[in-house]
Amino acid sequence: MNSRTCPNCNHKYPFKKYLKVLLRLQDTQFECENCKSTLTVNLSRRFVLAPIAFFPILITRTFVSFFSETFQSPSWISYSLFGVILLLWIFSVYQFDSFKLTEKPSY
Ligand SMILES: [Zn+2]
Repeated sequence: MNSRTCPNCNHKYPFKKYLKVLLRLQDTQFECENCKSTLTVNLSRRFVLAPIAFFPILITRTFVSFFSETFQSPSWISYSLFGVILLLWIFSVYQFDSFKLTEKPSY
């Protein structure tokens, strides 16, 4: 299955567009901008991705103390660096998010 691709027309969503879809996703359904079919986010895939995406939070303390000791830097620098790495990590994991077709367009 292709990630971030419409299952009906194979329209590939660039990551920025996908983020917009993700952010306004309250009812989890949206319309494909290309073929107008109703799509939803593949929830089972998302359940698999979530623990992977947020796993690094578990090692925050280890990372921060290691970084502070190694580079003799104040811990707020370590924390913000960790935040940046975590965001990048989450983004790259969610590259593999995928959509599911709920309704074909009715012309
Ligand atoms: Zn489509």
